[in-house]
Amino acid sequence: MPHYKIAIVGAGPSGYFAAQALQNMVTDELSFSIDMIERLPTPWGLVRSGVAPDHPKIKTVAKVFEKIANESNFRLFANVELGKDFSIQDLANRYDAVVMATGSSIGKKLGIPGEELANSFSAAEFVPWYNTHPDFESMTVDLSCDTAVVIGAGNVAMDCARMLAVDPSELDPTDTSEIAMKALHASKIRKVYIAGRRGPENAAFTSPELRELPKLEHTDVYFDAQMIEDAHLRAVAQSEFGELEKHLASNLEAMRAIAEHPHAGHERSMEFKFLSAPKEIKGNGKVEEIVFGINKMEDGKVIDTGQTFSIKCGLVITAIGYECDPISGISIEKGKIANNDGRVMNSNIYTVGWAKRGPSGVIGTNKSDAAEVMKLLVNDLGPAKSSGDITEILPSDHLVIDQSAWQRINEREIAAGEPLGKPRVKGTSINSLLEMSKI
Ligand code: NAP
Repeated sequence: MPHYKIAIVGAGPSGYFAAQALQNMVTDELSFSIDMIERLPTPWGLVRSGVAPDHPKIKTVAKVFEKIANESNFRLFANVELGKDFSIQDLANRYDAVVMATGSSIGKKLGIPGEELANSFSAAEFVPWYNTHPDFESMTVDLSCDTAVVIGAGNVAMDCARMLAVDPSELDPTDTSEIAMKALHASKIRKVYIAGRRGPENAAFTSPELRELPKLEHTDVYFDAQMIEDAHLRAVAQSEFGELEKHLASNLEAMRAIAEHPHAGHERSMEFKFLSAPKEIKGNGKVEEIVFGINKMEDGKVIDTGQTFSIKCGLVITAIGYECDPISGISIEKGKIANNDGRVMNSNIYTVGWAKRGPSGVIGTNKSDAAEVMKLLVNDLGPAKSSGDITEILPSDHLVIDQSAWQRINEREIAAGEPLGKPRVKGTSINSLLEMSKI
């Protein structure tokens, strides 16, 4: 019976769901060996370094990943880096198919003056910083200002704003990085703005995330009720037969509930600004103020009114989407791996997840997405190759973190969290993680 070797590059949700889809296709007539390769010593991708620490339920999907990883046809090769330890061609030559599940880790830029000032960060830096991603171990975020501004009306902006706006005691029982917790406990930030360039009807937030906000114990959340009513009218005018799509109706309803929720007079607040397009970040070497252009919506289009306003602030986080890292030997188009329904042209290479479709959808979206691509991949398979695998590419002294080494890291992190009432305390650097992997 045909037995195929598949390499998956990237141990995030889309990589695991691709592996699961292949495992689900095993029959008496068809089988696979799946090698998952990951640059970091730890797997789980965004579930480890993207999902907000105060959303532990979302992280329980890691149990599914571990089940996939413990199947007999699966091997983990973590601490192994594409472009450094092997080339894409090394894999393509040895495996029947290669699946790129490398995500998108570069934050999109606003392209406005002052974006490079100190204390102006992309969510692509801020989020992994508070999630103990080893690449951001030495990053310093100055929280000594009173006001922070988060740009973008999506769930990542919401995560960043919430992390800055809640009382740090609410984050104590989470796995937020120790460095970030220290900074958040000393933080002087009391006012956090979230700014969207279009109206509330165009916001990319999802309603479960909005509905959490009135439940914050130490933070008042402000939404302009009139702005939501105006947005509702515009959305109805734009809709077919005056009926709003379910998710939009639910979002506007959640926003209305926030606007109507009584304010307790907390010192900490989070305020939503819409129709506000960032024009310039000002400051003498460091963020001091951000200038916005005021937009209006007409017939579904954004119009710059020419008017401006500004907010004095000491921290700006830009959460406006992500793009793929450049990958040697792979073409990137519009921030994604160039592909046709997941097929990378003229090769045995495929792509799934954010690398394939861009940064959209929730973690579960990757399951159906990866399953569709794996179906194409399996249909494309010809005679099985017999030539080698990643083990013959790596030097014999390369420290590979396999599934059992990862399990040691995982168990040690969980054990370190127990006395502190936290789900885990993550290793902060590549070296400390490698140390934790040892028997
Ligand atoms: P997103 O949902 O695409 O939101 C990006 C936001 O940035 C949009 O409001 C967009 O506004 C705005 N934007 C883009 N370019 C801009 C510019 N030049 N100036 C000002 N604003 C700009 O992206 P995301 O928040 O990064 O999230 C990525 C995906 O992860 C989403 O599918 C999200 O739902 C998911 N996610 C889910 C959760 C969760 O389930 N709890 C948490 C985090 C992330 P326009 O619409 O006007 O372009």
